[in-house]
Amino acid sequence: MSSPMHGRRAAAPARSRPARTAPVASLSEAPIAAEGTRLRTPLRPLLSLIAMSFAGAMMVATSVPALAITATDAEPRASVYAPVEDTVEYVPQTVEVGSDGVMTTLAAEQYHVEAAPPPIVSQVASVGSVAIVDTDAIVWPVLTPDRRSSGFGPRSAPCAGCSTNHDGVDFNPGNGTPVMSIADGVVVLATESGGGLGVNVEVQHNIGGELVTSSYGHMQYGSIAVSVGQQVAAGQQLGLVGTTGQSTGPHLHLEMFGVDGVRFDGFAWLAARIG
Ligand SMILES: [Zn+2]
Repeated sequence: MSSPMHGRRAAAPARSRPARTAPVASLSEAPIAAEGTRLRTPLRPLLSLIAMSFAGAMMVATSVPALAITATDAEPRASVYAPVEDTVEYVPQTVEVGSDGVMTTLAAEQYHVEAAPPPIVSQVASVGSVAIVDTDAIVWPVLTPDRRSSGFGPRSAPCAGCSTNHDGVDFNPGNGTPVMSIADGVVVLATESGGGLGVNVEVQHNIGGELVTSSYGHMQYGSIAVSVGQQVAAGQQLGLVGTTGQSTGPHLHLEMFGVDGVRFDGFAWLAARIG
């Protein structure tokens, strides 16, 4: 880059001067007019040299690649001389499949379709078929789930007639506090004559396409707030904590089971889904 400049400066300074140094040349005319031709000879080559140096500096500034100017920046950023958008080349991506690739079809049992499970239809006594929408929202049945007494499973019976294998989990939020549905669902049982469970409500849920039932026992007489066949939402009040049926004190006895009717640990199930 520098060698053409030297060559052009040496060979033809006068030819390039008018085009590149017009403002400077007019400055040289003023002293010439005032003081005569004596100045013309020594001054003009000097001004010409200054002008050429200026022009050369401009060429350096405008011809150095933008990356060279910004290369020493502490943090990389887009140069104002060369917008990044204009310099990025997008190379199309291709996927090459080997010659041994074979297209096959999957049999129906080889995959699962997880989107939009069908609604579950529950047969509700005296009501008929009720569709239960799928739900993800799971909540605790009481406001203070940390206060519990008997857990799920084998235990020494706390009263005469109480079971030694506890089919549920006992919450102790306090007498008269609300009992709420753990999820959206439909009420399939609402009775004040639930035997050992006393005042009892059962709600069926569609949890990811599976029928799950929650049963709320020992509630207060006169507190049932729902009726059989009614659609309820997660957190909707079903009744109040009491001590009806085979109970030694006010608490909520929660049982949970699937279509096989086998009870499972409702507390662990809820804790895993509520977090
Ligand atoms: Zn219990």
